[in-house]
Amino acid sequence: MNVKSIAVLGSTGSIGRQTLEVARHLGIGITALSAGSNAKLLESQCREFRPQRVCIGESEYNNLKTALADTNVKILSGDEGLAELASVDPSPTLVNAVLGMKGLVPTLNAAKAGKKIAFANKETLVAGGNIVTGAVKEGGARLLPVDSEHSAIFQCIQNGNPIKKILLTGSGGPFRGKDGAFLETVTPEMAVRHPKWNMGKKISVDSASLMNKGLELIEAMHLFDVSPEKIEIIIHPQSTVHSLVEFEDNAVLAQLGSPDMRTCIQYALTYPDRAPSMASPLDLFGAGLTFERPDRETFPLLALAERCARKGGNAPAVMNGANEQAVAEFLNGKIGFTKMFRLVIEAVDALEYIPSPGLEDIVASDAAAREYVLSHK
Ligand code: MG
Repeated sequence: MNVKSIAVLGSTGSIGRQTLEVARHLGIGITALSAGSNAKLLESQCREFRPQRVCIGESEYNNLKTALADTNVKILSGDEGLAELASVDPSPTLVNAVLGMKGLVPTLNAAKAGKKIAFANKETLVAGGNIVTGAVKEGGARLLPVDSEHSAIFQCIQNGNPIKKILLTGSGGPFRGKDGAFLETVTPEMAVRHPKWNMGKKISVDSASLMNKGLELIEAMHLFDVSPEKIEIIIHPQSTVHSLVEFEDNAVLAQLGSPDMRTCIQYALTYPDRAPSMASPLDLFGAGLTFERPDRETFPLLALAERCARKGGNAPAVMNGANEQAVAEFLNGKIGFTKMFRLVIEAVDALEYIPSPGLEDIVASDAAAREYVLSHK
């Protein structure tokens, strides 16, 4: 294992905190940290890991500056600070655990700097996939997936054989087997209680609506350069098989493990090596592995994502922007769970389709989609 130090963007979120646990476990140094608004936790992370630079959202800049006045850490702020951090940080590996589209410019900057990017910012690949993969190629950078399914697929394709089909698994979330009438009654508290994985609020809501599988389908298209027709979504409630890959001879390889994000984070950091893990080993006895087809009628956002994946252009960016805003409104108690579905579907149908969007089109589509949700909620 040759990774000595890393930068962690989004260090106070669920993936960020688990990344720091892995860093502590493996003795990896931290050169940069960033957070949106949790200045308290960022301060304590700074005191433990002693990074050179940190970045925080503008509203908390003064608080953090006061809190860290006795240290010599350089404090940046806002989107510009985050973009700068991704460019100037000296570590060859950057963990991008930023939530949502805010991670796009930092990703592009890390790509230009030719870094290894341990990637947990799926919204960015969904919205700007071709732009991100283009920048990665051009900069000689590398995207190493942190998302558990994509980490599994990545591990299954190390033999280099062409992929015939990806079987992308998902637990089905907390409302698997429920009907539309039940979904009308879902509250934010119910939606964030995921049965298997320890995750942040936004992704927990996406898991409950199955939008997360849709986002992951588009993420997989870009990470592994496959068409959406070659990716099948499979519901696997035990979350033990993290995904599978079928090859030309119909042989199927799978990666299994206990559902613990720290395994996926660690592999992205130690790749191509492996190291002892903090996660518990897999116990196959009594695991009772089962597989089902997803229910696209009750969970229409999965069908929408599949449609946007095939449509391409700015459709995934519109879908993602509308979904980010709709999830925020749902978590704030402003709209119901199924209203969230309707708004995202409507936004995709209502907004202008751009077949070959550039970066500005992607940013504008994202903003228009958020605005659509805000004005129709
Ligand atoms: Mg996942």
